[in-house]
Amino acid sequence: MQIHRFSQYANAYLLNETVLIDAGINPVVIEGHDPELIILTHCHFDHTCAAPAIVEMTGAKIAVHEADAVLLGDDRATAAVMFGEHAPHIAPDLLLRGGETLEFDGFALDVIHTPGHTQGGICLYEPETRSLFSGDTVFPDGGMGRYDLGGNISDLARSIELLTSLDVAVMYPGHMGVTDVDVPAQIRLSLDRARMLM
Ligand SMILES: [Zn+2]
Ligand SMILES: [Zn+2]
Repeated sequence: MQIHRFSQYANAYLLNETVLIDAGINPVVIEGHDPELIILTHCHFDHTCAAPAIVEMTGAKIAVHEADAVLLGDDRATAAVMFGEHAPHIAPDLLLRGGETLEFDGFALDVIHTPGHTQGGICLYEPETRSLFSGDTVFPDGGMGRYDLGGNISDLARSIELLTSLDVAVMYPGHMGVTDVDVPAQIRLSLDRARMLM
């Protein structure tokens, strides 16, 4: 699986030129690429802002968890207000619930519902390469997403616990850098920290 990372305020990842995980803020970075599907890890502005422009450029479809789909367009729920902006209008084509496996040419993505940062946050796991696209649920070095922007710490801790059962070789987080250094240990550290905050 070939992965192209676009880093702006948040990370976006293009998989085999087919699937874009999160859209970022600036659609220009995607120029020259032609994704078929944009999967949004959650509704927040820094991950979704460029989605409508990318759809216009490429005709890509949009997938998002159903619990965050209803929040798209809400300035407060998407944290657009924190950026002094309005939430873009996004009409999802595919609503996710968690538990699905999405099949593409050469790879598959397991959808894991991981509420806590937002209610409809998801992580995506690619079993072949043991890659975890962790959105804003967990970050490297024991980090985790904020839980005061539409989520809560007990859900977040439960979601991180779910991720500790995965065999992860590489973590592709929504913020910070990609890491392949004992990722399960990093996720366990996030879990310990989340439990202390409960
Ligand atoms: Zn977020
Ligand atoms: Zn974010």
